[in-house]
Amino acid sequence: MRYVSTRGSAPVLDFEQVTLTGLAADGGLYVPEAWPRFSADQIADMAGLSYVETAVRVMLPFVGDSLDEDALRRLCEQAYQGRFAHGAVTPLVQLDHRHWLLELFHGPTLAFKDVAMQLLGLLFERFITGAKDHLTVVGATSGDTGSAAIDALAGREGVDIFMLHPRGRVSEVQRRQMTTVLAPNVHNIAIDGNFDQAQALVKAMFNDPGFSGKFALSAVNSINWARLMAQIVYYFYAAVRLGAPEREVAFSVPTGNFGDVFAGYVAARMGLPVVRLIVATNINDILHRALSSGDYSVGEVTPTAAPSMDIQVSSNFERLLFDLGGRDGGALSAQMKAFEADRRLQLSNSQCEGAATLFTSCRVDPDEMALALRRTHESAGQVVDPHTAIALSAARSAELPGDVPVVTLATAHPAKFGDAVERATGVRPTLPPRVGDLFEREERYDVIHATFDDVTAHIAELATPRS
Ligand SMILES: *Cc1c(COP(=O)(O)O)cnc(C)c1O
Repeated sequence: MRYVSTRGSAPVLDFEQVTLTGLAADGGLYVPEAWPRFSADQIADMAGLSYVETAVRVMLPFVGDSLDEDALRRLCEQAYQGRFAHGAVTPLVQLDHRHWLLELFHGPTLAFKDVAMQLLGLLFERFITGAKDHLTVVGATSGDTGSAAIDALAGREGVDIFMLHPRGRVSEVQRRQMTTVLAPNVHNIAIDGNFDQAQALVKAMFNDPGFSGKFALSAVNSINWARLMAQIVYYFYAAVRLGAPEREVAFSVPTGNFGDVFAGYVAARMGLPVVRLIVATNINDILHRALSSGDYSVGEVTPTAAPSMDIQVSSNFERLLFDLGGRDGGALSAQMKAFEADRRLQLSNSQCEGAATLFTSCRVDPDEMALALRRTHESAGQVVDPHTAIALSAARSAELPGDVPVVTLATAHPAKFGDAVERATGVRPTLPPRVGDLFEREERYDVIHATFDDVTAHIAELATPRS
């Protein structure tokens, strides 16, 4: 399997290289050269398989020569057996005769990002072993990505992680999930600034040849292909349990950076009978505007109770535009350069028509979110988190064919967003026992000014340079 950049001019890479690389050198994102495809019989054969075995079948076509089947199986066992608090890893929960929740929050940091990050940490370790360089992972987080990445990379050989978070602007649970990990290869940096500044600092490090030349830098945000690949698995796992390949299934996905729902798109391209993907957004609705009217234009970010969806530029949307636009890297490169200059982009007719065959979008405001939280609690006895509530609201308002089952992705444990859940339902969700004494543990982090010089000087002091 070979990987090409959406902008057409970066080197073609194999799976190992694409895992370690992150962003392509031409500014694009890597995608497989062609989508692997399963026959109906091959999908039917997945009935009854464990999560680990499903993961091996679904991901094997993507890893090419970088891993053989046994090696992939061992990594999946290590990532998913024991690290998740539920034997099904991502269990389905029934809400009524047609609506289901796919619970993706049974991992160590209580959000769906654990599913991909636990595997990514092991892939980094495996691919860096024997290489001459030590990997320096840098990232910025508004909460969930940071904790999932730190948990996955803590103690891994040959890797250091530097995670920037905006000081005082992540929840206490989120901060403690990062700062109480005391492994020597974990470095938390609280910057005096907001998330956008943290993200801009990370981008500047990758773009500064003086800094990026000195260290083997790598990224853990959702532009990393291996993360998306790991998320395709649970679409198959859920749909097969609900009757695929004979029966079609719809999914509703709380969407921010378009990573999770893009994995659903890939599952459909691989032959899974996905009849609809509902892209649920909050009032930060750039994706709803793009998919309903072709208008992908950046607005102001408004903070909400579902912070992981508070974004205006959805990096993975570029992968969809590439695939729907006939995989023309030159044309997409021009389209994205114009977008970067004007902060707006109009989808072409073929992109709009292609998207309409599979995607429906829905914008959910705070009142609708609170209503969905309350109703799900009253009618099914389920307490969900604000992100999940947004997707549930979208699932219930979408027009769908026939009587297909509708699966809403539950992306976070409600206790991660306890205040918002309590406001809507009157119920205070309790943290599960596996996070234990989070509030008693020692914290460790450095507070650094939000300037390029201060942050890079701090990292340079602690990181291992290229040999
Ligand atoms: C990251 C996140 C999302 C958004 O996922 P994308 O892949 O960025 O679209 C939704 N819900 C929660 C709880 C998240 O942490």
